[in-house]
Amino acid sequence: MNAAARRIGILGGTFDPIHWGHMDLADAAIRELRLTRMFVITSNVPPHRPQPLASAYHRFAMAAVAVLGRPAWRAGDLELRHAAPSYTSHTLGRFHERGFAASELFFVIGADAFAEIGSWHDYPQILEAAHFAVVSRPGFPVGDLSRRLPLLAERMARPPIDAVDKTDPLIILIDAPTTDVSSTAIRDRLSNGESIDGLVQPGVQQHIEQHGLYTSTTPGRRASDAPPIPAAGRLHGQD
Ligand code: ATP
Ligand code: MG
Repeated sequence: MNAAARRIGILGGTFDPIHWGHMDLADAAIRELRLTRMFVITSNVPPHRPQPLASAYHRFAMAAVAVLGRPAWRAGDLELRHAAPSYTSHTLGRFHERGFAASELFFVIGADAFAEIGSWHDYPQILEAAHFAVVSRPGFPVGDLSRRLPLLAERMARPPIDAVDKTDPLIILIDAPTTDVSSTAIRDRLSNGESIDGLVQPGVQQHIEQHGLYTSTTPGRRASDAPPIPAAGRLHGQD
């Protein structure tokens, strides 16, 4: 691929489970920024934080199902290959090691999550590692961010942005409709025996039902039951 044409989206999340809001978020960034690739990278969760309900294996499997039929998308396992906490700055560093420039990378994030950027590992340097494509989430318009994060206001821009792959990293604000759903709401609905029709993709719903995720007490369904994932040397599926 011509290096000048690379515009790589990176969507990180716990994905417990992945749902239509995540897909809409990524689609909005692809559309507005003409991204050529979208990596959906499942995070591990540090031991001292509340653990996801589904194991990392099942969360990754659902992300892999979610990208089926989307040839430009990849489910990334790089954050699951290490026992260490998943820091986005380390993940972006792995992309730099693979030859990607910061200006070619677009970290895609909802406005609720970006509002907490000041508490992230390696803040503020992390803002130099990639563009941040910040998309509205129902109840979290991007228009509020310059007031909430005044120190960052001057880096904020709205598409269309000329030659975005040649500028210094920006915070790109995108207003787009996304499905009003959260993983928490889905887990709650499932544990109450309620339907999740239309909240996740059909294949993800099938995976959840087939394996009894979020309803079952069967050993092995919970993150805390799973054995640690062995560390491995190299990235797969990164190009
Ligand atoms: P939880 O309820 O477990 O926190 P979540 O639905 O918020 O789950 P996360 O895995 O926490 O999902 O979020 C991953 C990323 O997706 C974050 O950047 C978040 O802002 C974004 N996101 C999640 N749901 C939506 C949505 N409905 N619309 C836009 N962005 C979303
Ligand atoms: Mg969340």
